[in-house]
Amino acid sequence: MAPRHRKKQNPRSSKPPRRAPPEHNFDVIVIGGGLAGLTTTCLLANTGLQVACIDREPPPATLQDVFDGRTTAISWGSRKVLEAAGIWHLIDDEACPIRQIDILDGDSPLLLTFHSDEVGGRTFGWIAENLAIRKALYQRVAELKTAQHIAPATVRNFIVGEAQAACELTDGRSFSARLIIGADGRQSFTREWMGIGTRAWSYHQRALVCNVEHENPHDNIAVEHFYPGGPFATLPLFDSPQGHHRSSVVWTEHGPLKDSALHWDQDSFDAGMTARFPARYGRVRQIGKRYSYPLGLIHAHSYIGPRMALVADAAHGIHPIAGQGLNLGFRDIAELCDLIAEGAQQGADPGRPEMLAAYQRRRRLDNIGMAGATDSLTRLFSNDFTPVRLARRAGLRAVAEFPPAKRFFMKQAMGAAGLLPSLIKDHAA
Ligand SMILES: Cc1cc2nc3c(=O)[nH]c(=O)nc-3n(C[C@H](O)[C@H](O)[C@H](O)COP(=O)(O)OP(=O)(O)OC[C@H]3O[C@@H](n4cnc5c(N)ncnc54)[C@H](O)[C@@H]3O)c2cc1C
Repeated sequence: MAPRHRKKQNPRSSKPPRRAPPEHNFDVIVIGGGLAGLTTTCLLANTGLQVACIDREPPPATLQDVFDGRTTAISWGSRKVLEAAGIWHLIDDEACPIRQIDILDGDSPLLLTFHSDEVGGRTFGWIAENLAIRKALYQRVAELKTAQHIAPATVRNFIVGEAQAACELTDGRSFSARLIIGADGRQSFTREWMGIGTRAWSYHQRALVCNVEHENPHDNIAVEHFYPGGPFATLPLFDSPQGHHRSSVVWTEHGPLKDSALHWDQDSFDAGMTARFPARYGRVRQIGKRYSYPLGLIHAHSYIGPRMALVADAAHGIHPIAGQGLNLGFRDIAELCDLIAEGAQQGADPGRPEMLAAYQRRRRLDNIGMAGATDSLTRLFSNDFTPVRLARRAGLRAVAEFPPAKRFFMKQAMGAAGLLPSLIKDHAA
């Protein structure tokens, strides 16, 4: 992918940026104030570093429920990241624990159940609305004297020198820092400017996302039902203030967008939902808006460049089949912030090349592994070719009947906190 424009200075030149001098100098600038960028900002600002987070969207617009209808399945590891960022206590009351995961395959009667009793009663994770997480992150960034949220502001160029890098905004402002972190999502401008290519493909599927109310309680059960068109997942949410039982739905579809259930009238949609939900939920009614997200895989060939690093969706984006995209991004953030904080204690430069190389080395394998696993799962469960279907069901049965395999998958679902770097572990209560 060719960069649209690139005005990179000779990295060996230590001259300051040629244009207007930067208005303000930070230790780190984070490009992108989505969930990944804001979390990075909180973690770094917590350590005393001066951090700016730049996002092109006006914050009030991102707090409207039309902006992002998704929920996130937060693993144990990600919870610890959010604790270290100082926001878990703000969403604790809104993050609904998952105590059981049911897996069904098409019309097969086989049911694979993971129950929290099998892992010492610990929950598998929590379902939180992205809107609630974003609100909490805004609140935390505003509290931190060392963090600055610059939005709306769109980055249009970078200038990289030997000792620092600057970013220029479309409104003419410019800011500099010793490290620039690109957390600007799948279509990352930062990645494109750095000239980093990607490996990417589309699954020719869309995720239709919405919230629903249902007659009977969900009992903290998450259900993933694999249909040939893609998975249909129901994720437990807390009851509404009016006492209605609620879940979030991720319904994977393929085929032309014009035929999407996105356009169905309310009665047909509710009937479709009720038919897909397990019968124990009773009648199901969609509430709020419906959202649609195209699904694909993307992985950057590199996560680093001089004085720059990529994290989360800017570095890799995966199919939501296992609800792991942001969890994976949080592991990047934890690793990078840990390396920066470790060095900062000795006054080290947060953009030093050997540290960036260590970040990339420590994160690539995990990211490639998860991208490969979700890609294989997506292909395996979207295939209705009889031999594949039979092999898949045999595999599910084997997992159901072989406790060590079951425990392995349950640990994966929980996101091993033991893999997290020390910064995060130290902050975890
Ligand atoms: C249907 C669905 C369900 C999912 N469920 C889960 C789940 O259960 N668990 C999980 O872990 N993950 C899940 N994911 C994945 C998760 O949603 C993403 O990984 C996550 O939202 C990525 O966050 P991000 O901050 O990296 O990127 P984004 O949310 O894309 O944020 C990027 C930000 O950068 C800003 N930006 C971009 N360009 C510029 C620029 N030039 N200048 C300034 N700002 C800029 C944008 O305004 C934006 O705010 C799901 C994904 C989908 C599609």
